[in-house]
Amino acid sequence: MHLMQRSQISNLKFQIENMSVLIFVDHTDEGHIKKASHEAISYGAKIAEQIGDVAEAVVLGKVNEDLAALGKHGAKKVYHVQNDSLNTFDSQVQAKVIAQVAEQTGAKLIVFSNNSSGKALAPRVAVRLKAGLVAGATALPDTSNGFVVRKNVFSGKAFANVAINTEIKVITLNVNAFTITEGEGTAEVVPFNAAVDTPKIKVTGSTKTSGKVSLTEADVVVSAGRGLKGPENWGMIEELADTLGAALACSRPVADAHWRPHNEHVGQTGIAIAPNLYIAIGISGAIQHLAGVNRSKHIVVINKDPEAPFFKAADYGIVGDAFEVVPKLTQAIKKMKGQS
Ligand SMILES: Cc1cc2nc3c(=O)[nH]c(=O)nc-3n(C[C@H](O)[C@H](O)[C@H](O)COP(=O)(O)OP(=O)(O)OC[C@H]3O[C@@H](n4cnc5c(N)ncnc54)[C@H](O)[C@@H]3O)c2cc1C
Repeated sequence: MHLMQRSQISNLKFQIENMSVLIFVDHTDEGHIKKASHEAISYGAKIAEQIGDVAEAVVLGKVNEDLAALGKHGAKKVYHVQNDSLNTFDSQVQAKVIAQVAEQTGAKLIVFSNNSSGKALAPRVAVRLKAGLVAGATALPDTSNGFVVRKNVFSGKAFANVAINTEIKVITLNVNAFTITEGEGTAEVVPFNAAVDTPKIKVTGSTKTSGKVSLTEADVVVSAGRGLKGPENWGMIEELADTLGAALACSRPVADAHWRPHNEHVGQTGIAIAPNLYIAIGISGAIQHLAGVNRSKHIVVINKDPEAPFFKAADYGIVGDAFEVVPKLTQAIKKMKGQS
């Protein structure tokens, strides 16, 4: 005979009521929900609408925000699993909990952001649920005949349409690939009892990166390369970034030479980003650099060489010396914002 705990019984009722799209809500260590999660909920809710299901969300650990407000992006319910073991990120522990929520709520599609947590969790959840996984979706799936998801391949040079044929499906959504939708709704916040393992890893300390704005979450990124000649010249880059409320990035040789920290290095071997605006200053535009930034919505290039390859990928280009152009640009933006 198998005896069920009260928590299992209370969770069982979800199974009967729901056939849902479940969206994982990622938050910072300080409990702030990431912009990428607002995108993922908006995306999941749109898919739910498309296939006649409901969108629900799952949040793990301590949060400092009103979870009911996630309803404005289309989440009908938010399952909140609270446990001290979930307050530090351990992908194995968290994946097991998300799989439990998915199983007990009858979720047929689980959506993650394609950020570092989503990349660690989604494959683990997919294995647990025997689900097909598409990582890095860029658009809503085509559900007219099966379930076909579009994603970028070959560093954004082409796209692939991938069909998922399993009953349960997992998608990670590229950051900045889907516009956040805002409506009037309020989500029902439901405490969820799950079996939570003790983490096998222990965080003994952490160091915050220097950037004021998170690079992967940033709307605007100001990036500079070897054309800046040396680390002593980054003051004007930081001033431009501060004026725009932008995150800082750099090319790989700049990080390799320790002019800037490696967490700012973007490209094929660095971080891949997709901000609304990417400003590249004194960067040649090598293919390995472009691989990490070519999903940016708008690219502005400042380079003194009119033949620099980056101009081919640019929406706007300024041919000129960065040391003349950048201070003038910063002043002009400050003036526009009434800051000078
Ligand atoms: C396997 C592999 C992986 C790689 N991964 C990455 C990666 O992830 N990210 C990455 O960035 N690179 C990567 N690289 C390196 C890449 O190939 C390039 O060498 C690198 O991107 C060049 O950096 P840069 O544009 O800053 O420097 P440079 O190529 O030296 O270009 C400097 C640019 O600054 C311009 N310039 C000079 N002075 C001024 C001025 N005063 N005002 C305005 N413009 C000026 C020049 O015209 C030039 O275009 C990788 C390479 C390999 C082989």
